[in-house]
This record gives sequence, C-alpha cells and structure tokens, in this order.
Amino acid sequence: MPLAAVLKGIENLALEDREIPSPGDNEILIRVKSCAICGTDIKVFHHGHKHIVFPRVTGHELSGVVEKIGRGISDYREGDRVAVAPAIPCGNCYYCRKGWQTMCDNLKAIGYHFDGGFAQYMIIPEIAVKNGCVNKIPGDMSFDHAALAEPLACVINGQQLSRVEIGDTVLIIGAGPIGCLHAELAKNIGAAKVILADVAQQRLDMASFTGATIINSKEKNLKEFIRDITDGKMADRVIVAVGTPEAQEQSLELVSKRGSVNFFGGLPKESPFARLNTNILHYGESFIIGTHGSTPLQNKIAIEMVASGKFSIDKYISKKIKLEDLHQGLKEAEERKVLKIIVNP
Ligand SMILES: [Zn+2]
Ligand SMILES: [Zn+2]
Repeated sequence: MPLAAVLKGIENLALEDREIPSPGDNEILIRVKSCAICGTDIKVFHHGHKHIVFPRVTGHELSGVVEKIGRGISDYREGDRVAVAPAIPCGNCYYCRKGWQTMCDNLKAIGYHFDGGFAQYMIIPEIAVKNGCVNKIPGDMSFDHAALAEPLACVINGQQLSRVEIGDTVLIIGAGPIGCLHAELAKNIGAAKVILADVAQQRLDMASFTGATIINSKEKNLKEFIRDITDGKMADRVIVAVGTPEAQEQSLELVSKRGSVNFFGGLPKESPFARLNTNILHYGESFIIGTHGSTPLQNKIAIEMVASGKFSIDKYISKKIKLEDLHQGLKEAEERKVLKIIVNP
C-alpha cells in the first residue's frame, strides 16, 4: 500500500499505509513526485495551525502526475504532469471578484484544510481544480523544479506588491531560500543593485550564486553600507524575508523616500508587535506592506519563469529525501544549514 506521512498531533509524525484514494466528481488524483519542505511545515510540526485539524498530511510545494480523473473533469487527463498552487480562493467573495485572491475571505489551502503532498498519492479537491490551482508543466521541466515554482509564486506576489522597478536598489534581509528567490527575481526584473543581508555567514555563503551583493550585517553596518552605495538615497525597496521584530524595526531606516518596505516574513503569533519609527513614513512618504501567499495565476507565471531558465533552481536543492526520512528532513531544514530539501515520495 502507498505511504503517507501523517501529522497526528503536535510533533507526532507517523508513516502510514493508506488505500489509494479514489477521486470523486470533479476531483483529481495525483501521484506526488516532489514536495519541498517549507519553513511553515516546520512551524506546523511544532505548533500546529489554526486551520489544521489532526490527523493531516502537510506539504504544499508540490508537483506530480495526474493518476486518475473524477467524473466531470475535462481539462486534464491521466499522465498530465502538473504543479499545484496550494492556496485555494473561493472565486465568489468581494476580494476574489476584485482579483485579490490571496485575500479571499474563504481561503482554503492544501496541506492545511486538505491533505497535502507528503504522501505518494493525494486528491485535489473540486474547488482547487475549478479555481485554476492545477497548472500543467512543460514536458522538459523536472518535478523538483516544478515544486519550487510555489515559493517563487509567493515571491512574485511580494515584488508585485513592493512595486519593484527597473533601476531600483533592492535590499533583501534574510538569505534563506525565499531571500535568494527575491534576489534572483529582482535581478530579472531589472533592479540595478540587489543586496542580500543576513547575520549568519553560512547562509550568506550558500546565497552567493544569486549574484546579489552579499552583506553580513553582524560584521558590517548595513545602514552605512546602503547609504554609501546609494549616495545617501537608501534602498528603493526593502524586503524583510525573516520574521523578527528587530529586522522590521531596522528596515524603516534603510528605505528611501517614497520607497517600500515589505514585511514578507510574519512574526510569531504570540508576539506579533514591533516598535516602528513611523515618522520615517510620515516625512519620507514611504510605505509598508505585507505579503501572504500567492494566486493560482502567479503560480502559473512562476512555472513559466522557471521554464525560462532565468533562475538557478538547481542551486536551491540541497538534498532529496524519501518520505520515510521526512522527520529527519524537517529537523535538518530547521537547522538552516540547507536551502531546500525535497521529498520524492
Ligand atoms: Zn511554503
Ligand atoms: Zn474568495
């Protein structure tokens, strides 16, 4: 029988044999080929999530093959290679109709409300199929690359909200996989200067492939550095790809007038506050925004961008593991000594 890694409770992950599920009307059964470990998988493992009722199979950065289609499915057939956008908009609420699907009032997500990709087989629910969450991938794209289109889609959402433009100086704080994707995307958009800052040298060493200017902000004064390279103007776009109040506080000192700061990483729910010098916004007419997930269309765009070869996707894949080693993989990802670990169930 096929395997599924089932989170049965907080820090209680078990490998289970499961019957291959059968797709209902308008559903699709997928044989999962790749599912990448994300920072939120680690969070959920330790703390659970308000939208998760145990037992639940997590994993939301995934690709696979259509194994079987339910009655009523006409746009997909068995054998299609696909990547799945995990955030499912309802399509009907005010925000969906406005086109702001990440803000959907009834947002559901694969790996949260529905079982995700840390399993050999999974069902894509009707609402996900109907709202464009299942994107076909090119025949020559590897499943591992397709799985990483999902974090790229979130990064695309972030930079659209940040309004990154040609010629900008873009500063990214946090050199994890998300920070690296931000650096590569900013370069692709045409940012003139891209700086990637972190306090962990090990992370910075892993990020050198992005071609960004790498700064260890523990060893170098970040504010002085940005001031020097911008003739005092500071960064047009600051993207905070870590979840600490200190980084959020500091980010306002690094942004130019009329520039944007993006709180891309969320703070822990038990301590969501930061002390901000709001006069910087007042006098500088700069603005702060956040970013949450990505739309099905942004996932489609991300697949096309990965296919274009403009991202060094191979460099993100530090390790590939089997489903049996997921527990160990979560631990390793938590130590932050790797970029991405991919599960090939
Ligand atoms: Zn993720
Ligand atoms: Zn909606």
